[in-house]
Order: sequence, then structure tokens, then C-alpha cells
Amino acid sequence: MISKGGSEALLRTLVDAARTASPDYVILLPLFRLLAKVGLRDKKFGQKALELEALDVTLILARKNLCHSQNLLHCLWALRVFASSVTTAAMLGINGAMELLLKVITPYTQKHTRVIRAAAEVLAALLKSKSNSRRAVNRSYVPILIRLNQDWHSHDTANSFVLIRRALLLCLKHIAKLRSGREAFLAAQGMKILYSTIQNCLDDQSLEPVISIALQILRQCYPKSPLPLVTTSSAYSFPVPGIVTSETPRVLTEEDYEDDGEEEEDKDSDSEDVKEEDDDLETDVNKLSSKPGLDRPEEELVQYKAMCLELSCSFEELESKPGDDLNSDETEYANHRHIPTAASPKGLCLNKDRISGGQEKEVPVQNSLLSRVKMGRSSIHLTSKRGPGMNSYRNVHPNGPGIGSSGNDVSDIQTSFREDAWDMDVISCPRISASFSNSTNRETAEFIDRLLQTHLKPMVFHDPYLYMAKARRTRSVADFTRMAFPDFWGHCPPLSAQPMLQRKCGVQRIKILEDVRRLIQPNDIINKVVFSLDEPWPLQDTASDCLQFFSAFESGNLRKAIQVREFEYDLLVNADVNSTQHQQWFYFKVSGMKAAVPYRFNIINCEKPNSQFNYGMQLTLYSVKEALLGRPTWVRTGYDICYYKNHYRQRTAVMGAASGKCCYTLTFAVTFPHAKDVCYLAYHYPYTYSALMTHLDILEKSVNRKQVYFRQEVLCQTLGGNSCPLVTVTAMPESNSADHLEQFRQRPYQVITARVHPGESNASWVMKGTLEFLVSSDPVARLLRENFIFKIIPMLNPDGVINGNHRCSLRGEDLNRQWLSPSAHLQPTIYHAKGLLHYLGSIGRSPMVFCDFHGHSQKKNVFLYGCSVKETLWQAEATVGTSNLLEDVSYRTLPKILDKLAPAFTMSSCSFLVEKSRASTARVVVWREMGVSRSYTMESSYCGCNQGPYQVCEAGLQFGTSELEEMGAMFCLGLLILELKSGSCSHQLLTRAAALLNAEEESLDFYLQR
Ligand SMILES: [Zn+2]
Repeated sequence: MISKGGSEALLRTLVDAARTASPDYVILLPLFRLLAKVGLRDKKFGQKALELEALDVTLILARKNLCHSQNLLHCLWALRVFASSVTTAAMLGINGAMELLLKVITPYTQKHTRVIRAAAEVLAALLKSKSNSRRAVNRSYVPILIRLNQDWHSHDTANSFVLIRRALLLCLKHIAKLRSGREAFLAAQGMKILYSTIQNCLDDQSLEPVISIALQILRQCYPKSPLPLVTTSSAYSFPVPGIVTSETPRVLTEEDYEDDGEEEEDKDSDSEDVKEEDDDLETDVNKLSSKPGLDRPEEELVQYKAMCLELSCSFEELESKPGDDLNSDETEYANHRHIPTAASPKGLCLNKDRISGGQEKEVPVQNSLLSRVKMGRSSIHLTSKRGPGMNSYRNVHPNGPGIGSSGNDVSDIQTSFREDAWDMDVISCPRISASFSNSTNRETAEFIDRLLQTHLKPMVFHDPYLYMAKARRTRSVADFTRMAFPDFWGHCPPLSAQPMLQRKCGVQRIKILEDVRRLIQPNDIINKVVFSLDEPWPLQDTASDCLQFFSAFESGNLRKAIQVREFEYDLLVNADVNSTQHQQWFYFKVSGMKAAVPYRFNIINCEKPNSQFNYGMQLTLYSVKEALLGRPTWVRTGYDICYYKNHYRQRTAVMGAASGKCCYTLTFAVTFPHAKDVCYLAYHYPYTYSALMTHLDILEKSVNRKQVYFRQEVLCQTLGGNSCPLVTVTAMPESNSADHLEQFRQRPYQVITARVHPGESNASWVMKGTLEFLVSSDPVARLLRENFIFKIIPMLNPDGVINGNHRCSLRGEDLNRQWLSPSAHLQPTIYHAKGLLHYLGSIGRSPMVFCDFHGHSQKKNVFLYGCSVKETLWQAEATVGTSNLLEDVSYRTLPKILDKLAPAFTMSSCSFLVEKSRASTARVVVWREMGVSRSYTMESSYCGCNQGPYQVCEAGLQFGTSELEEMGAMFCLGLLILELKSGSCSHQLLTRAAALLNAEEESLDFYLQR
């Protein structure tokens, strides 16, 4: 009907019928009903009505019928559809429609409520036009609307007219988009009135439509203010080469905060979907085609020969005894058999005896990686199913069970050390120099020594003394002198996995209303700065009752803490060094807490518009007392967790003169496990550079040198003066006979990198799993070593990790956007990582697979990003014909394999599109310039898994470090199966793998099918 001109015909009929001397309502009323229906479907209806002069006649009819409710109602229905176009709405406003409507909308009554509702809805539609809103402000409609709403709210106790109240609030919401509208709202005490209006009806489901809009108005009208920071630039700065000197950090003033008008909807109803941006897809076939070529003079590649000593080493120390069984020497070395096993107690905290003893020659079947693949879901234990136990303090709600239950476990302290003798101040944040410096510190050193001897349970691949030695050599911008206890002492994964947090309905609005209450009832607001990197010490008043904070240690990030109420703190995190942005990562120490008290924390300067904290993710906590009681464990913690836009605005250089950038609040409540404890809170399980260096040294010592070729060297120095390690892992040649050396040198390369983004500590845990698996005595690892040479750069951005950055290098730039033309001086780690890959290419040894490990903050599970020309063009609906484009689809094989093997992995989140904005990432550059078709980014969620075997409960499972480490091991198994499926796989490998896989039952044959 619309396409055949029906709207126009109806509108003309209306105009004709209305213009007669005495309009015939027998015709007009059905006509209005029809118009209202058709108008809903016709996007141009308002415009058509305007052109055909139907607006005027309808307005005139409405005026004539002010006392005739049935006729008036019909006119209003028509006006409502006319007003759906903003131009038409503006025209109606000019013609006096709003005054007319205000006459109809009366205070509470039980008469003609349908008319009143329709009038309020038309008014709300009209106010979508800014000119109408302006007119409404000028004519003082704001206080009138507030009063009307309040009147209806207080009288409509049965909630019979919720929709009238909703429409009135919508009017206010549209007006509040204007600055003058918000001012009028504040002047009319709108905040107070609306706040108390909804305060007492929050639990009423039937008022949902009213509450959510009221809340939006309160958020919109809350006066915008600058962040309580002297400058948005990072508190740390570092003189780096070639930096385009940023403007001297300017002090922020009130005028900087022109606001932006548009506000988001209430987050409670947001869906989690991440928007795909199709116009970012690369459609230039030239840029999509592989262009192998060097970005530097070929002579420069010679330097990387020294990093590939495996290709020239003659292994003269090896005797040439073909056929000799190397296994016979196994007991001589630390034959650790640590297979990262998620949530399985067996594989986790092996004690030192078992590591170094090496009594067991073969990996027991139940511990091998292949058996893990088979076991799948059966091995997962959930916290919630374990009842009160060692980890029961987690997620404890103030009134829930569990408080004090940790006291039951005191019996397992195997020490004469009494808890009251613990000097928590000394223990909790040891001096890096403690063990070797002057006499004042010697006592501390001895104390720590004693503590380690009495309390430390041996942990696999960790050693506090070695950690301290490594930390001493680590160079930080702020010259950290202290270590965070968890990094120093070590972390053991919890015995059970933790389910995702189920958010209680309405939590977010309660938190937002608490924020609004600061404005309305300022009496209990303390607003005291208790910690700050920018202001002189000592700010912390240890005598007072407030919490104490500290963050000056490796990977630490907290810039400022402000006590807001007795048990509530606003926290601000630091921008990346030499930057004004990327606030997301946090890691800090907190002490001086009371037990069984829920503390509310608000990180108020987060940057990303949404977060997995809204979808079941918790932050992580490490309690020093728990560690001393024998449970040195990072656990997921916090409840009432929400992430939403707040009223603070941050002006940045990037935004120029435009409005200030929005800030987001991450709010969470924590009930600490012990009183007077020292706890550490972090965005995700921390993994420092010193931890990596410790780990690599211990790994190197642990390997059986007759079997495992493990070389650790320095790829380059970073801007901050730290060494970026490069690790080579393969199997030793069987002997130094020509044949064996030839086999050794011909092994294909696999290149894996990680942690280019410092805030993505999950990537380091995955890498930890990869490294430990590759050097282990697992039969799969052995096969992998015998068939490949692994080149691993486990931390591409050490400086960022050390200094608590979230995204960048010390130059304040994202290193994963520098792969196109890195500079040796400005982005040394990228320059040399790329150089090494170029070198391998130049000698015809480009890697089979290149993979860069990352963390993902918006999605769940683990998945790969790869590169496909065909899929990109197809997705972009590019005009370039793709039908005759030939593309090897082997890039899909590895993710498909991982989808079947690794419980955390899902093919469904993988993407193989090449985006323009990713043109300078490792994945795209290695694919395009080095012709590596299997070039990937592996993304692991900060949150967890909601599919596959780990979906053991409705909500899914949050990742612990074991799940991440397991993923690292599974990735390696994936590489083996990828090779078995490839045409080039040697007969020998196939036979050996078949024997291995058959021994694990035919269920695994499946993976071998080519
Ligand atoms: Zn990343």
C-alpha cells in the first residue's frame, strides 16, 4: 500500500475531509486509525504529511476537540506518527503543538488517561527535535514536567499508569540532551526529586520502564567533571629517542569539559556482541597479495646468523654412536614431567622432590597431554561444588557462608611461627636489595630468609631467591626498590576452577544511585586522598582507619586512591608511560583492612567502552596471609561487579579541541579473607618480566641436556635497558654423525611470540604452558622437538610489562602497529623479531607457523586470527571477483585442530579477515612480507570459557592460570597434528605418531585422518 502511494492518498483524504465546514467524524476517526497504522510502517510518513499539509489540519482538529476526548485521542495518534520524523516534529513545534499538548497533560486524574498518555507520548516524540527541546527549556517546561511526573508518581500507587509516567520521563530525557536542558533540570532540583522518586520503588518489576529512564536522566544530568588528576599524562615519563615531544602536560580546568550530549543506554540491557566493522576490511587486492620482500638491506640480516647457532653447531661433544638409546641417561637429569593440567590437582604443585628426584622414567598415561585430551570434562572441579574449604573465602558475600571458615584451616600450618609474629609490613613488599645490602636491611633479609624456610612450599619452576636476583637486574622507569609479594613468593593455581560470576539483577543501578547520592547527600562523603603518585609523601596516615595502597613495584599500576565513604574508595590508574591513555591494567597492594567488611572500590578512569567485567569476569586477589598459611594463590574475587560510563571526562591530545573523552567506572566489592592482611588486587593474574627471566633460567636448568637443546639468548636490548630474551628449543641430534646433523639442521622452524601488549598477562601464562610443555618429557613434546626447531620470543615488550603499562612501549606507542617499518632504535624488539624472521626467510627456512599470543578483553574463550584474501574480499562484498582467485585454505587447518583438541578453544570466534587497521600487526606483516600463510594471532580471553568441556555450569568457567597454561601445551599438540596432516610429513614421524596415538586408543585416530 505504501509503495503504491497509499500514504499520500490517505493523507489527501484527511486534508479534504478536515477542510469541509463541518468535518464528518464518522469518516475521520477510522481514517486517523488507518493513518496511525500505516504511518508506523512508512519511514517518510512525516515528510509526506508535511508536504500535503496534513499537519496543520490535524493540529486544528485537535484544538477544536480539546473537550471531546475521543476525537482528540484520534488526532493525537496521527500526530504521534507524524512526529516520528525530526523535521516534521520541528514544524509541529513551531506551529504550537507543544503548548497544545501541555494543556492536555494534566496532573493525576483517572479520567481520559488514554488521551493524556497519547499527548505525553506525542510530546516526547516532539522533544527529540533539538529546536523543540530548546523551546521547551526557554518556556520553563522542565520544572512543569518534573512536577507532573512527581504528581503522577505519588498518586499512581497501583501503578496503573506507568506508561504515562514513562512518557513524561522520556520528555525530560530528550530535553536533558541539551546542556541548557540539564542546567534547567539541576536548577529545578531534578536530581533530588528524581532520585527520591525511584529510591523507594527499585524492586518493583512493574516500574522497570520508569526506573530505567529515570536512571538515564540522572546519569545524563550528573554534572560532568574533570578527573581528579593534575594531568592526564602518565605519572611516569621516560626520555626516549625520537619522541615528538608532547605538549607540556597542561593542567586541566573546568572549561575543558564541554560535554557531549549523547549518552548511552543503561548497560544492564546491553548485549555482549562486539560490532564488526566491515569498512575496515582491506579490499585493495594489491595490498592483500603476498609481497615477500625485505624492509632492510640484505647485509643486515647476517647478524641473525648468530641467533641460529643450531644451524652451524657441530656438536663435537656428542659421540657418534648411531642407535644409542638416549633414554638410558634419563635419571641423571631433572626429568620433570610437568604437563600443565587445568584444574587437575595432580599436575599442579609438584613438590621439589618430585621435580628433582626423577625416579619416574615414563610419563604416566594419566598425566600425558594426550590423556588430557581424552579426559576432557571429567577432570574439572568447580569451586561451588566443593563446599566450604580452603578457597571458601572467595566470592564471599557479606552475609553468605564462609566468613571465618579459613580459620578452620590453620591446623595445616606446619610451623612454629605464630601468625601474630608476622611483621606484615616487612613481609608483604620486600626490598629488592634486601638480601645483600647494608646492616639495616640485613635483619629484613634474615627475616625473609627465615620466612621462606618455614613457610614456602616448593613450587614448580619458581624460586624466590632467583626472582630477587632477577628483579635486581630489571630496570624500571621509576627505579622500583620493592617487589610485589606474589611475584616474589610465587603462585600455585587453585585446586578448583572458578565459575563465572552471576550478576544479580539491578546491581548496576544500585551502584549508580550510590554515585548519585554523593551529589544529593554529601554529608557522609570524605573525599580524602590516601595515595597518590603525583603528590608528596607521606599522605598515608597509618594511624587512621583507612586502607593503605601501594603500587611502586614491577607491573604495578595505581596512581591515586581517594577515600569516598568509610568503606568506599575511588581509584585512578596510571596512563601508559609517555602517554595520556590506555588505562585498564591495574595491580596494587592494599592493606589495613578489617575482616568481614565489604569494601567498595571504583576504578574511575577506565577507557574502554565495555568490559567482560559486565559478563561474569572477576578480578584477581592474592592474600599474603593466605600465602603464609600455605596457599600462595591468585584467586578470582569480587562481587557486585559492574562497568559503566561515569560523569568524568578526560581531555586528550588525540581528541583535540573536541569534547572530553568519556571515562568508565569499574566497580567491585571485596570482602578480604583476613583482618590486617596485605592483599594484592589485579586486573588479571600478573606475570612480570622478572618472573619470565626466573622461569627461563629454571627451565634451562631443568632440561635433560642430552635430549633437549635449549638455548636462551638476548634478541636485543629494550629502550629501558632490559634484555629481550629469545629461546630456541629442539631435540639434540641423535649423534654428531653427518646424517643426524643433517636431520637436525633440516628441521622446520616454528616461531611463537607473546606479550607485545603488556596488559595481556594471560598471554604470558599461555606462553608459560607452551615453554614448559616443549621441554617436558611428554612423548608429544619429544616428537615435536625431534621434528621442529622452536624460536620463541616470550615477551616482546618487557619495558611495558615492567612499568605497568596496558598497551604500549616506553615511547607510548602500540608495538603491534609497528611491524611494517620498525626502527632498530625506536622499536628494537619488533625490528629484531622481524629481522630474525627475514633471516629465516632469506635462507629458505620461513616458519611453518607463526603465532603471536595475545589477550582479549571483549570476548570469551580462546581463538585465532589469521589471514585470508578470499574471505576478506568476500566479507567486504568487494567488487573484485573472487571466483577465479586461488587460495590455499591450509590456514584453516590449525584452528580446526585446536577446536577439537583444546577445551578452551573455539573455531566459532576465529576470523581470517585482513583489516586495514591491522596492516602493521605481526600477523599481517609476517603473512604478507614473509609469505607465511599460517600466520596467526592467538587471543585468550581475560574472562573464561562459555563453550566446550569447560562449560560445566550454566555460566561457564573463568580461566585460572592452569587453563591458560594448558592452552599453551595444547597449541603445541596442535602443531604436531598439523604436521601429521600435511602432505610433507615424513613417513617416520607418521609411524611414530601413529604408535603414540594408537597407544592412546583409537579415539585419537580421528586427528590423523588426512
Ligand atoms: Zn593484544
